[in-house]
Amino acid sequence: MHLSEILIHLGEEREKYFNAVSPPVIQSSNFVFKDLAAFRQAFSSELDNHVYTRGNNPTVAILRKKVAALEGAEDALIFGSGSAAVANAVLSQVQAGDHIVCVESPYSWTKTLLQQFLMRFGVSHTYVDGRDLGKIEAAIQGNTRLLYLESPNSLTFAIQDLEACAKLAKAKNITTIIDNSYASPIFQQPILHGIDLVVHSATKYLNGHSDVVAGVVCGSKEKIQKIFAEEFMTLGGIISPHDAALMIRGLRTLELRMHRSDQSSRKIAAFLEQQPQIEQVLHPLLPSFPQYELASKQMKGTGGLFSAYLNAASKQDMEQFVHRLKRFLMAVSWGGHESLILPSIGFYDIPGRENSPLPWNLVRFYIGLEDPDWLIEDLTQALQVL
Ligand SMILES: *Cc1c(COP(=O)(O)O)cnc(C)c1O
Repeated sequence: MHLSEILIHLGEEREKYFNAVSPPVIQSSNFVFKDLAAFRQAFSSELDNHVYTRGNNPTVAILRKKVAALEGAEDALIFGSGSAAVANAVLSQVQAGDHIVCVESPYSWTKTLLQQFLMRFGVSHTYVDGRDLGKIEAAIQGNTRLLYLESPNSLTFAIQDLEACAKLAKAKNITTIIDNSYASPIFQQPILHGIDLVVHSATKYLNGHSDVVAGVVCGSKEKIQKIFAEEFMTLGGIISPHDAALMIRGLRTLELRMHRSDQSSRKIAAFLEQQPQIEQVLHPLLPSFPQYELASKQMKGTGGLFSAYLNAASKQDMEQFVHRLKRFLMAVSWGGHESLILPSIGFYDIPGRENSPLPWNLVRFYIGLEDPDWLIEDLTQALQVL
């Protein structure tokens, strides 16, 4: 299906709501039945009919169709956060006594899920350097049920060969999950490479306007049906219909936003690479990136995230650089309209918190929708303190 069809029309049955061009927010917890036949028919599949909004809400259902189609999946579920999506997807695949192979340094709350939460229920894990397929294979045990990927990683940008990982896992009867938040389905569609379940923090690119926290899980009808009946309905981590409507609006411009961020981030990363105050730029689609070939093979673009090590003589110089930037906001998260910096020095000297293991001269940049030349002007003046 054409991307334009998905983003602009798919799932929108306008004749059902007065031919309104934008779908209504069906702000209703409950749905009524005119007779017992209708009641029984609805209960025959709560995933596809409307019974109660913890299960399936009509506004959210439009979003499910669009998100599934974007990932080339049969179906999708929408959650109240990316972390809820990750947790539901992982929980659906394991039970006590099972083992997970996970790429090293996954998203922080994914790490907590594995290290603190799942350990309590007898599910163990091993972290591996996912850049090396041999290391993934060596970490697989007899009780390994799940291979959890994040490619690229949103901090280190480490990449896994998706096709090779999917093939290996299939041969060993292991489910694969990937967190595809970094690349978005515009630039990477893991299901086409054979990955089973795709999760996103929709807070990032899919919504794209820094005003909704949400998550999605995409996969086969069979896997989604199981997650729906067990984890989704039990844990109840749903998105509100209002936030779903905002996400539908956000998706209208997903393709435009991704290409804008992608082109700008390549331009700005290439600019930074030329500056004497920059030690190294880490951007998966710059030829200097160690996994550039693999990145080019399986991703059509990267979007706005990359990092740089600065040649700063001292922490004070680093702090000055951060404070001189005026057109980049300082924040965690990313994927919205606004450009951001996340300087690792911000994690130093926090009372009660151990020092960040990341070098203090590292800055993660997120390039939003502004004119890249206007951002380069700001970087140019801030770099002068170094
Ligand atoms: C933000 C993020 C998450 C968590 O998503 P929330 O919407 O904040 O719960 C998971 N994975 C990655 C890669 C993220 O960047």
